[in-house]
Amino acid sequence: SGYNTGFGFGGGRGRGRGRGGGRGGGGGGGPSPALLTANIKNARTLEELLGHCTAHRSKLNHIHLSAAWNSIGHKSGNLSPDWWRAHDDEIRSLASHTAKVVSESSEVRAREIANIAHGVAKSGRGGDLTDLMDALARAVEKRASDCNAQELANVSWAFAKADHCADVALFNALSKATLAKASACNSQELTNLAWAFATAGRTQDEALFASLAKAVEHTLASFTSQGLSNTAWAFAKLGHFDQSLFAAVARRFRDSGAMNDDQLSAQFIANVAWAFSKASEAGKLEQATSEELFRNLATAAEASVADFTAADLANVAWAFANANQMDPTLFQSLANRAENFLDDFNDEELDNAEWAFARAGMHRIVKRLKQNRKRAVEDTAAAKAEVGEVDVSGCGTIVVAGGGIGGAACAVALQKRGFDVVVLESDPSFDARKQGYGLTVQRQDAVNAMGIDLAADDAPSTSHYTFDDRGHILGVFGEAFGGRDTGKERKECKNSGRFIHIPRQVLRLRILEAVRPGTIRWNSRLEGFKTSKKNPKLIRVKVTGGDAIDAALLVGSDGIFSTVRRKLALPGDRLNYVGLMVVLGIVDDSILNVPLTKRRIFETVDGSTRIYVMPFTTSSTMWQLSFPMEEKEARELAKNQNALKMEIKRRCAAWHEPIPDLLANTPLDGFSGYPVYDRELLQPEVLRKAATDAGMLRVTLVGDAAHPMTPFKAQGANQAISDAVLLAETLADGVRKYGADEGFAKALPTFEQKMLNRSSRMVVGSREKAKEMHSNLALRPARKVQRETDVDMVRVIQMLRTKGVGAKTSNDERGLDAVVADVMRLCASGGVMEVVENDDKKQKRDRVHNIADEKTLSMKQKLLAHIDGEWVKCTLIKTKENGKHKVKLKGGNKVVVPADDVKLRV
Ligand SMILES: Cc1cc2nc3c(=O)[nH]c(=O)nc-3n(C[C@H](O)[C@H](O)[C@H](O)COP(=O)(O)OP(=O)(O)OC[C@H]3O[C@@H](n4cnc5c(N)ncnc54)[C@H](O)[C@@H]3O)c2cc1C
Repeated sequence: SGYNTGFGFGGGRGRGRGRGGGRGGGGGGGPSPALLTANIKNARTLEELLGHCTAHRSKLNHIHLSAAWNSIGHKSGNLSPDWWRAHDDEIRSLASHTAKVVSESSEVRAREIANIAHGVAKSGRGGDLTDLMDALARAVEKRASDCNAQELANVSWAFAKADHCADVALFNALSKATLAKASACNSQELTNLAWAFATAGRTQDEALFASLAKAVEHTLASFTSQGLSNTAWAFAKLGHFDQSLFAAVARRFRDSGAMNDDQLSAQFIANVAWAFSKASEAGKLEQATSEELFRNLATAAEASVADFTAADLANVAWAFANANQMDPTLFQSLANRAENFLDDFNDEELDNAEWAFARAGMHRIVKRLKQNRKRAVEDTAAAKAEVGEVDVSGCGTIVVAGGGIGGAACAVALQKRGFDVVVLESDPSFDARKQGYGLTVQRQDAVNAMGIDLAADDAPSTSHYTFDDRGHILGVFGEAFGGRDTGKERKECKNSGRFIHIPRQVLRLRILEAVRPGTIRWNSRLEGFKTSKKNPKLIRVKVTGGDAIDAALLVGSDGIFSTVRRKLALPGDRLNYVGLMVVLGIVDDSILNVPLTKRRIFETVDGSTRIYVMPFTTSSTMWQLSFPMEEKEARELAKNQNALKMEIKRRCAAWHEPIPDLLANTPLDGFSGYPVYDRELLQPEVLRKAATDAGMLRVTLVGDAAHPMTPFKAQGANQAISDAVLLAETLADGVRKYGADEGFAKALPTFEQKMLNRSSRMVVGSREKAKEMHSNLALRPARKVQRETDVDMVRVIQMLRTKGVGAKTSNDERGLDAVVADVMRLCASGGVMEVVENDDKKQKRDRVHNIADEKTLSMKQKLLAHIDGEWVKCTLIKTKENGKHKVKLKGGNKVVVPADDVKLRV
């Protein structure tokens, strides 16, 4: 996400102030153009400004519009959703007039376009004033070469900030112009440009980033600390680790004393730590430089730790641990501070904090965090048990619009609590439409809570590979290599915690089977809803054909194109095209049966296009291919199966086997393509306010209707199911506390808060993953690491490549997983790589032995000890007579571990 930049836009103060009275307008009784400019610039409030613009709309030229949007950008900082709603017509009318002038007038200059784009982006309306952003983009495209450095920086920032990054033609033009002007940019402009191009995911722009890097080095002395941090973040984000730039930035941090500034925010510290950890991971930072930087950074972090929130703690700890820089003093301070926030960590923060502290060997705090997590789960379970006994018979009927996975799950979860439920589904029957793709069910707790068992439907996978387009391995993980059982295949068992792969329709069917007969009304489309005249607490839901149902609660579970959401008229609500086309296909084993697709997920990436292949059923395979494409083109292509097939075959013609075969052998009716959309995050207050304003407190949304997301984190259906379980729980709790009459209205704000809080992380994460998977970042080795092992995956990947192990090895009679597991084992035991190494590395490798061969260990020997399921760093204090080792962990704690649970540290 972005950060606020301090642009020095003119602001246009005062020149016309006070003159207005005497210099009324020329003909027609309106103000003269100059006076109108002055009035716009001097308006003290946005109401006043919009008043001028509306009154003289037809007179507004490019100069007026530039001034107007500039002011809107500056003054819109704290405006409420109510304000935007109240002024929506005026803003839209101004936007459409602006789009017209920008498209038609030959007088508009780059500077004015930059001002307008910046104003729109700063006001936060760039996402929904798309026609205006498009018109500006086309105008920029034509004039990019006339822009000066500041205008380029402002425009690029504005379009990235407005999430208008999928416009390839625009960013191509900006990139070309920036390349020519980079050397003329000052530090602020460079910061904004780097941030904008990184946000737009311009990974292919090697030349551009090289020239920006050079320019940054030349102007280094004038950068603020914040600017440097943001610039380093941007370069790291794109995987462009210009060695001298990073070294220079590190020097600058050291020399400027920036690290002693106790105002440094946690986000700043985490950003710098992250960027430099990536740089050193990529081998682009000398160890000494890296260590010095992290030392300074740790001192700065320690100085600010007293102000850290739980989220800050988790971020900073994670960033340092990820960089393998577990400064004991810093981590001790972080752990002490974390003790104050044990209840405040959300799940993701807990994951990060636990992982980081475990890596630092701080087992006391890990234990405390784990205990707290367990207690929270138990409390929730106890609350659930209590809620289960509530009498909900007087609550009326809950109408769920949509019988997809979310709607069906709502019916099951609500009926389990005793509620009366009707589900309206617009499709005439369960299989009226093709809905064939595979889902990965990750939130089995929610599925279990509905009493549904999916074990028999699972098409299991036990390993997960990432390849490049030649078939070289970029990453590998999975049960097949799990933890200490490395190499041994685990028993497939119910609730093993492994994700379940299941066709979407099978999951939907299993949920529908648990719904009470007669609940689903097929062929019933919700057309609209309003407050019931008879009883203002009820919602009258209109169904196709004229039927109406009075609902005590209406739940919009009608998917990404939700009618319920549309009718709530949320301010600024619109679909957001994420710039990608997705094509899905299913191939039966009878058509193509190859070992690589068996019990395995693999993805192949080339820095732009990605294919994800997984078991669909135990006898068929599903693939999902995705690539950047302009929205218009994607929409057209989606309509033409033949053209679609040709396009994907062309894209992957030279990819490793069996991808070309997989695509060629997918029957035309076995695949489909569509452009990928999500929506901006929905704020719980905005949703509640919209329902309240419409006079209908008892309306809510779940699933894709509430929080549609890209499919790249495989979370949409999981979130929809969790929403359903949460809704039922919260409603029952509301009824228990406030009775049948008030319970729903009281419970909904809590439900929406929790639901949107949880899912918003997934929406953002899915969008970021979409960008990452289609950029050069996807090509980085060992992006995902095997949990529960201490194997150095970067080294494993190197070794696999040296040994020629890759996609084609799946044809080896031992099987790919067995070959990879062998290499992992070899690596874990310090086996020697058959590559030419420099002397330093070689000496280091030569020191590696298997612990079993060591008779005695020397004092202070650096070891890894297996504690609480993880390998952690420690040093030997002594070996006891019974063979056990007493070791000192990083945080200073001392523990005794069995002989089998230690090994030498490489
Ligand atoms: C390619 C792909 C792969 C995915 N993979 C995964 C994955 O691995 N894991 C995962 O968790 N998620 C995945 N998802 C996302 C997941 O499929 C969706 O998030 C999920 O299906 C949303 O469920 P829903 O019930 O909210 O909406 P939908 O499934 O869209 O259901 C909405 C229902 O409402 C009906 N409807 C619409 N309008 C009306 C109306 N006015 N009146 C009555 N009925 C109406 C529709 O007919 C439809 O049946 C994937 C999505 C895609 C596209």
